[in-house]
Amino acid sequence: MGPMRKTLIVGNWKMNKTISQAEELLQRLLQRIDSRCPAEVVVAPPFTILAAARAQLCDTVIGLAAQNVAAEDMGAFTGEVSAPMLIEAGCGWVIIGHSERRHQFGEPDALINRKVKNALEHGLKVILCVGETDAERDAEQTEHVVHLQLTEGLNGVTPAAAAHVVVAYEPVWAIGTGQTATPAQAQEVHGLIRRWIGELYGPDTAQAMRVLYGGSVTPDNSHSLLGQPDIDGALVGGASLDVDLFCAIIGSA
Ligand code: PGA
Repeated sequence: MGPMRKTLIVGNWKMNKTISQAEELLQRLLQRIDSRCPAEVVVAPPFTILAAARAQLCDTVIGLAAQNVAAEDMGAFTGEVSAPMLIEAGCGWVIIGHSERRHQFGEPDALINRKVKNALEHGLKVILCVGETDAERDAEQTEHVVHLQLTEGLNGVTPAAAAHVVVAYEPVWAIGTGQTATPAQAQEVHGLIRRWIGELYGPDTAQAMRVLYGGSVTPDNSHSLLGQPDIDGALVGGASLDVDLFCAIIGSA
């Protein structure tokens, strides 16, 4: 964690929770997270929950993210939700390029890039996810894959807009598997990502941009991960559905 970067903990709920379940979870979370929290906290519920979550989270310190966004603003795109819709529903943030979108729904870098640019143009803050698969790591392709995902994802994003981007490094083999990257493995890639951000945008942006780690983050490993110099927070899946676990991770920031 660098001196000028505030730790960011994001809970990615994926396709979990009904509205009533979400209201209960957020109520319990709000009892424990207030302005004294040293970390910035954001939750990313499913689309159907966003409006209800906004009602609970407005005037609190917890931010609201969507898990995906369309590249276009409106039109014949069945099943899609646009950036203006997300803003109206109360989102300040959006996760783009999550590995489940890339691998299960076939989202290529070019589409992810269009989503990133459109979301930023509308004023959403973007969490751009990158990360290699097991096979890519075994083939020593990690650097190549992550560099490509980063540079393609940010292609055409201006330095001013890049100030509203957070990168999340999530090795695919660590997501939902209980197999976390070691702090040293994660730090190695985070250091590279910061170097590449510097090559794209210069040293000031590289120092300011937050790079989160994601993939089986739990209270058992969060402290050592967050203690690494280039790990500025966490994108938490499974453990964010449990208030005690999520608060323990936030507490280790
Ligand atoms: P996990 O998911 O914490 O359940 O591994 C992380 C993510 O996919 O963002």
